[in-house]
Amino acid sequence: MKNFFKAISDFFSSLFGKKTEPAPAPAPRPTTKNDRQPGEVEDSSDVPKDTVNTVTVISVIPDAPGPFADNDKDDAIDSVEPGTTTPGPSTPTTPTTPTTPPTGGGTTTPTTPSTPTTPSTPTTPANTPRFVWCLDNGHGKLQAGKRSPLFDDGTTRFFEYEFNRDVVERIIKQLKKHGVKYFDVVPDFNEVGSFLPERVDRANKHRTDLTKIYVSVHSNAGPAANENQWTTDNIKGIETWYAQNSTRGKKLAAVFQKHLILKTGFRNRNLKSTAEKPLYVLEKTTMPAILTENGFFNNKLEVKELMKDSVRQKIADAHVEAILEIEKNGIV
Ligand SMILES: [Zn+2]
Repeated sequence: MKNFFKAISDFFSSLFGKKTEPAPAPAPRPTTKNDRQPGEVEDSSDVPKDTVNTVTVISVIPDAPGPFADNDKDDAIDSVEPGTTTPGPSTPTTPTTPTTPPTGGGTTTPTTPSTPTTPSTPTTPANTPRFVWCLDNGHGKLQAGKRSPLFDDGTTRFFEYEFNRDVVERIIKQLKKHGVKYFDVVPDFNEVGSFLPERVDRANKHRTDLTKIYVSVHSNAGPAANENQWTTDNIKGIETWYAQNSTRGKKLAAVFQKHLILKTGFRNRNLKSTAEKPLYVLEKTTMPAILTENGFFNNKLEVKELMKDSVRQKIADAHVEAILEIEKNGIV
């Protein structure tokens, strides 16, 4: 069965595996990086497997076919009704900070000068910052779905928003230490729902002379009859998404995927991209952008890993290592 999926996957990879493939329907070109008309999906989910490019980064076999009817489909572009641009009631904590250094925003992390050097990330500090990293912690507290079925204790659940936010906070802590510039796209904790347009807008409007890079942090969901059911055990691992035809996005995604797999030992689901139902944040941001899907929260075994402090730290550290590598080498 696995071989069957692998064969399917290889087949489609061979069909669609070149990012140089023109988008099927030539259409008006949006402003920046990607040549694609506004598509439909955000987050990996809900992308028909036969429209997905799977790019192998490290030599590991992709498992069951690509992204699925993952809960993240809520973030589909087509689910955001044009008029309903959930403006996120207030424009909270100053996302407009012009060129500020790592002040980030929201979260109060009073850990400052006391811890001068970096305990957990061995990589060298960035010299002169090249980029501003727009960190998106995907999903709001009140967004429907995006949670695991109940655990056996009958009360515990995993909430994706909480995981995403925790990982991004851990990333920010490290970036501060390294003097890397970042922009915390959603510092407000009680923000409602997903409000993708607002997330993208904040990043797009953030003013800086440096090149911005958008990093959206998520956890994934595999197919299940409903959100109270677990997905199958063999659907697990980490994948990183980029906008099709975005050469820089693809290069960035490869660096993140490499570090994530090396650091966590999770199954490598490789790089993903699709023209069919592009992911909202990858599509609409006016900067190179990637989206990491860190494990499956509706895989009963894997979600237990995602609940562990140590695993979350590894995932955050992997992001930081990727960022430092890119700060050091540029986008090459
Ligand atoms: Zn998500």
